Amino acid sequence: MSSASPAFLMRLMASTFSIAEKAQTIVQQVMSGGDLGIVEKTGANDLQTKADRLVQISICSSLARKFPKLTIIGEEELPSQDVDEGLIEAGQSEEVLKYSCPAQYSHIKEDEIVVWVDPLDGTKEYTEGLLDHVTVLIGIAYDGKAIAGVINQPYYNYQAGAGAVLGRTIWGVLNLGVFGIQLKEVPEGKHIIITTRSHSSRLVNDCVCAMNADEVIRVGGAGNKVIQLIEGKASAYVFASPGCKKWDTCAPEAILHAVSGKLTDIHGNPLQYHKDVKYMNSGGVLATLRNFDYYASRVPDSVKKELVP
Ligand code: AMP
Ligand code: MG
Ligand code: MG
Repeated sequence: MSSASPAFLMRLMASTFSIAEKAQTIVQQVMSGGDLGIVEKTGANDLQTKADRLVQISICSSLARKFPKLTIIGEEELPSQDVDEGLIEAGQSEEVLKYSCPAQYSHIKEDEIVVWVDPLDGTKEYTEGLLDHVTVLIGIAYDGKAIAGVINQPYYNYQAGAGAVLGRTIWGVLNLGVFGIQLKEVPEGKHIIITTRSHSSRLVNDCVCAMNADEVIRVGGAGNKVIQLIEGKASAYVFASPGCKKWDTCAPEAILHAVSGKLTDIHGNPLQYHKDVKYMNSGGVLATLRNFDYYASRVPDSVKKELVP
């Protein structure tokens, strides 16, 4: 008896996994090529490089070619252009296809999904050589909710020395699990806050101070910070600023939720990911692997008042 063909969501995940691995190669190639082609978008802290551009074209075109009915929203605004065939990834991960789709998602159709693409998260850090802060984020939303995601870390292990495999791809689906990363918890009773390194403000710092932390880690990238929550390096990602967008949070949120963590705005409200939502997460970001309520309760009312969702 032949087995039934995989559910659409798992076929999409299998392709997205391969597309994220292709993105890793492009990010590395642009860096080793030496010319980053840096452009300022809204200012010196909002940059775009050749890697952001090429990876966005690669991800969006590869997905659209295979799945033409998807809604795909990418961070970068690029002129429509002929796509270099070398940027197209047509493969799919056989490993991902070994997993069955959670029953409640098995009916999902191509035209019901919104894909949120951050081709390179942590661009500022990429241009400064802080390579392990960089991730590629592909988030999958259904019915306004982040339900699955792929995060590639192109420079994972880059300081680990000879023999270490460079880069990794983490993927997860709600009610199925997360793969490609080992979950670890912060030692009991320790409060380690992780926040922005290059987009601080008075409000961001007021909120971090109110957490009464044992330690504050300042690093780039929304994807990087959520990975550090999952690996037990930080307890809460606190960002009291409207700077993050839906493509920054969709994949990390889905992966965090798939290991029973929680990502919301700073008020504790869930984020929405339907195609007409405003891109900006104007209510800020609060995320934890465990003990969400503890950190949510420490957000000052004065901060909440200034961050209207
Ligand atoms: P960060 O933690 O500073 O690396 O920010 C996480 C993500 O949100 C990155 O993709 C940033 O580019 C984006 N982001 C945060 N704050 C701002 C801002 N003020 N302007 C533009 N992008 C921002
Ligand atoms: Mg980003
Ligand atoms: Mg980006």
